[in-house]
Amino acid sequence: MIIAVDGPAASGKGTLARRLARHFGLNHLDTGSLYRAVAFRALAAGADPADPDAAVAAARQVTPRDLDDQRLRDEKVAQTASVVAAIPGVRAVLLAFQREFARRGKGAVLDGRDIGTVVCPDADVKLFLTATVEARALRRFKELQAEGGTAIYERVLQDMKLRDARDRERRTAPLHRASDAFELDTTALDADAAFAAALRFIGETKPRR
Ligand code: C5P
Repeated sequence: MIIAVDGPAASGKGTLARRLARHFGLNHLDTGSLYRAVAFRALAAGADPADPDAAVAAARQVTPRDLDDQRLRDEKVAQTASVVAAIPGVRAVLLAFQREFARRGKGAVLDGRDIGTVVCPDADVKLFLTATVEARALRRFKELQAEGGTAIYERVLQDMKLRDARDRERRTAPLHRASDAFELDTTALDADAAFAAALRFIGETKPRR
């Protein structure tokens, strides 16, 4: 079984994807960490992340071991990830890895921006999470505060709007709901309620194979 979970930053897709993977005994891939790893490598090399040659070279160096590095969670890395993610050559390099991951074993839950539209268009279940940008910025702001940071809500909101715009407006694999995806608005839902709603939808969905 392949489950695609797409949506903008802080829509709750990572938490939901992890819970679904545990529930169904599937592997889980946070595909955003791939783009973050490309961004991190480009920044570490002192390269211009917007330069396609440099970004593609960084994408070719990414290994699965890169993906757990806590430094990928940095806001600068997140913003840079959305810059490298707009480069078609970068997406092409990462596509094969994602598809191969999805096929392995019993299947997988993949979360990202283009799983249901590009990476796994034949996924058995497609979920598209949304939430107002203010609710998402507040979640991120609280996370940063809990980590002991000195974040400013207005700044977090502005960064999120910028990244949303880049992800939605890029030419290659922009963020949008697949026509056959179930849309789940998490603005007023906590993680348990989102999980329950997703399970209800999956229960009603016939497997494709
Ligand atoms: O989900 P996360 O915030 O970690 O993603 C970081 C960035 O990676 C996103 O803003 C987006 O530009 C890019 N991304 C993407 N396609 C995916 C996953 C992430 O373009 N499937």
